[in-house]
Amino acid sequence: MEIIQKMLINIHCHSYTNNGLEILNCEGSIPSSFFSYGLLSDSINSNIDPTIITNNKCIAIGEIGLDKTFQTPINKQIELFKKQVLLAKENELPILLHCVKAWNEIRAIKKEIQTNSCWIYHGFRKTSIASEVLNEGVFISIGTAVLFDKKLQECVKVIPMQKLFLETDATMEFSIQDVYEKVALLKNVSLQELEQNIFENFLNHFKKWDIGWKEPNY
Ligand SMILES: [Zn+2]
Repeated sequence: MEIIQKMLINIHCHSYTNNGLEILNCEGSIPSSFFSYGLLSDSINSNIDPTIITNNKCIAIGEIGLDKTFQTPINKQIELFKKQVLLAKENELPILLHCVKAWNEIRAIKKEIQTNSCWIYHGFRKTSIASEVLNEGVFISIGTAVLFDKKLQECVKVIPMQKLFLETDATMEFSIQDVYEKVALLKNVSLQELEQNIFENFLNHFKKWDIGWKEPNY
C-alpha cells in the first residue's frame, strides 16, 4: 500500500511512459496495462467492441464526446456518443470526455442520461465555464497546457481538489510530473498533498481499478 500511495495518476495519455499509473487511450489492440476505451466520431465507421470493456484493465470509457471541427455531422456524433454513455452507465465506468465547441450539447446529454458514472472533461481549457460545469457535478482534468496558459493557471486555483484530475494526453514534450509540480505550486499545496488527493479521487471513482490491479501482467 505504501508504494501505491505514492503513485501518480495520469488520467489520460496516448502512450505509456512508466510514470505512475497511466490510463492509456486504447486505439485498437488491447494495451498491456490500464486503459480507457471508446470511439471518437472521426472514427465513426469503426464499431464499438463491447467485449473490450469487460477486460479487467479497462477502467473507463473514453475518450468520447463531440467535436464540431470534425467532418462527421453533429447528429451522427451525438448518436455514437450517447451509445457509449449508456455503455458507461451499464458498466458503471467513469467517462473521459472530449469536447470541442459542443459544450451545450454535451451538457444537455449529461442532464438527459442520468448515470452514476463520473464525467471528466479531459484536457480542459474552457476556463470561462469552469464553475458552471463544476456545479453540474463533473470532474475537470488538466493537461500540459497549464504549464503556459495563464487563464488556465488562474482557473486551476479555484477548482476544488476533490474535482481535479491531471493528464499528459498526447504530449511527449512534458511529463506528468511537470503537470503535478506546476499545479501544486498554483494551488499552494505540497506535491505530496496533491498526489494524495488525486489518488483518492481515483480510488473513489475508478472502482474497477481494484480488479485490474490484481492481474499478474501489471
Ligand atoms: Zn487524448
